[in-house]
Amino acid sequence: MRFSIFSLARQALAGHSGWPAQWRDPAPKASYDAVIVGAGGHGLATAYYLAREHGLTNIAVLEKGWLGGGNTGRNTTIIRSNYLWEESEAIYEHAVKLWETLAQELNYNVMYSPRGVMMLAHNVHDIQIFKRHVHANRLAGIDNEWLTPEQAKEFCPPLNISREARYPVLGAALQRRGGVARHDAVAWGYARGADRLGVDIIQNCEVTGIRRDAAGAVAGVDTTRGPIATRKIGVVAAGHTSVIMAMAGLRMPLESYPLQALVSEPIKPIMPCVVMSNTIHAYVSQSDKGELVIGAGTDAYVSYSQTGALHVTTHTLDAISDLFPVTRRLKMLRNWGGIVDVTPDRSPIIGRTPVPGLYVNCGWGTGGFKATPGSGHVFAATIARDEPHPIAAPFTLERFRTGRLIDEAAAAAVAH
Ligand SMILES: Cc1cc2nc3c(=O)[nH]c(=O)nc-3n(C[C@H](O)[C@H](O)[C@H](O)COP(=O)(O)OP(=O)(O)OC[C@H]3O[C@@H](n4cnc5c(N)ncnc54)[C@H](O)[C@@H]3O)c2cc1C
Repeated sequence: MRFSIFSLARQALAGHSGWPAQWRDPAPKASYDAVIVGAGGHGLATAYYLAREHGLTNIAVLEKGWLGGGNTGRNTTIIRSNYLWEESEAIYEHAVKLWETLAQELNYNVMYSPRGVMMLAHNVHDIQIFKRHVHANRLAGIDNEWLTPEQAKEFCPPLNISREARYPVLGAALQRRGGVARHDAVAWGYARGADRLGVDIIQNCEVTGIRRDAAGAVAGVDTTRGPIATRKIGVVAAGHTSVIMAMAGLRMPLESYPLQALVSEPIKPIMPCVVMSNTIHAYVSQSDKGELVIGAGTDAYVSYSQTGALHVTTHTLDAISDLFPVTRRLKMLRNWGGIVDVTPDRSPIIGRTPVPGLYVNCGWGTGGFKATPGSGHVFAATIARDEPHPIAAPFTLERFRTGRLIDEAAAAAVAH
């Protein structure tokens, strides 16, 4: 039989019987104190903080595919905390503060690079919205500043600020502490940290059912590797949350959409920062390998397909070529998609559910990578104490009943 390097890696991840025992996934135990569903960054961070800060080490993270193979390994890694509403500022700033020391905390280089995130304004509405963000953020002690087109070009030299451009740049909001990190390193760093604290991380183990006792409380999960008893389940399965919560009889206010990204051929450094254009749905930074990392928009229709429509990426490339004419002749190397789950107010849901022992962390939409450390940290506290962490408290499922929404969509039109 012939193997490619990818099939070898996949078999190693699949616990192929021919591989040394230390490379195989552990068999799940019959019972755990807590089970986390989904080994993305959020699930792994939750397990890590449960073990490190709350002493819960008899826990398992169950993953239907491979570690970090969901949105965590597919995103464009933009990190920032310049959101509008106080609730959002609190959680994303909590995350940025954890990002700043994460490599030391995990003893793993997550390549956090605070190179600045610049958000372009193309019309009067953008200018008003971004200036509002700048003022709100500064009142909250979060850095954000307004740049003229000339200052924006000084910060990012390849930017086209011609007034004749198809999408003229009328100014920009800059968060200097924003930036990028290496997504798979984040998953692996948290996984290694959790593993060292005794957490079982079990790949190729899909959760297919949620068991409840006579009182309706959580009693365990059914999986493709057998049933597991537990009294606490944390669901962190971006894009597929509704499917899993339906196993416990809960209907979630979520829709799942494909979201795409792509990378160019590698070139010498030209892009010193992250540039976002919410109005035209284009996001770009440059990886350490030299590829331009480009984020596109979501599809217009709900779907579980991890591909997405071609016209969405071509629109983004049109815009990137116009904003950065120097990139016009670049070849694109590859593109891919992920499935994001989106709430009606484009803000996450973190907390308890009406089913005792069942907790959920979802709805991060197009912007949850940046939240990974903060999300895992507050979700772990919520699960361990069975009460919402103060930063997570506003993000309840309950808000869709009471109407106390956190409407970042209306505030920014996008939540990357
Ligand atoms: C193209 C793209 C670009 C993005 N760009 C950015 C960005 O620039 N900045 C930003 O902040 N965010 C961005 N995001 C969003 C970000 O990627 C996500 O919000 C974040 O990674 C979600 O992390 P997670 O750990 O919750 O989910 P995931 O990494 O998706 O992990 C969930 C895991 O659950 C597993 N799972 C599902 N069902 C089951 C089951 N039944 N049993 C067991 N396991 C199951 C999945 O296989 C998956 O591995 C982007 C997303 C995409 C797709």
